[in-house]
Amino acid sequence: MEGYSFELITGPMSCGKTEELLRRVRRCIIAKKKVKVISPDVDTRAKGDYIESRNGLWLDAIKIKHAIHILSVVKPDDEVVAIDELQFFDKNITKVITKLMDEGKKVLGTGLELDFKAEPFGSMPELMCIATKVDKLHAVCMKCGCEHATRTQRLIDGKPADKNSPLIMIGGDETYEARCIKCYELPDIEHQKQKRNLKVLPFSFK
Ligand SMILES: [Zn+2]
Repeated sequence: MEGYSFELITGPMSCGKTEELLRRVRRCIIAKKKVKVISPDVDTRAKGDYIESRNGLWLDAIKIKHAIHILSVVKPDDEVVAIDELQFFDKNITKVITKLMDEGKKVLGTGLELDFKAEPFGSMPELMCIATKVDKLHAVCMKCGCEHATRTQRLIDGKPADKNSPLIMIGGDETYEARCIKCYELPDIEHQKQKRNLKVLPFSFK
């Protein structure tokens, strides 16, 4: 049965999520289905109104800021709704996708499952629960070269970012890369400092 479904493609940065989404969208287009492609307004990677995979494929996309507005751009005759970068949408995204499924649409989506702290990203946990199919893709680890990278490493000026580093960086050269669990690093400089201070505290039991 087509429709009434939600296929979620997830994994770390550079695992080919958008590439896989575009592959599935193209198949729907070949099957002459009416497809709507949506991406969040906050995605800074794509400059214009399109989504682009790292291997250079692209498709026109409608940029949307608030999840609820997805319902106003999807028309009754749209059969497939593809949404990129789901982790960036607000909490309403779960209800919006549930509604689209209830209306008989086939929803295709991608999202980063973990943020740079290796914690669940946005509404991804709920989305994984309501999805009718979940594919977890792995990336190549940029440090050891193994093919089991499941985490997204944040680097600031080329060094692993601290756990307490601000979510939005002002200045400094910020990059991200895929890493396996073994190579993933999350220094907690604040915590280490506190621990060091504890050791030198003069204890007295007089
Ligand atoms: Zn590795």
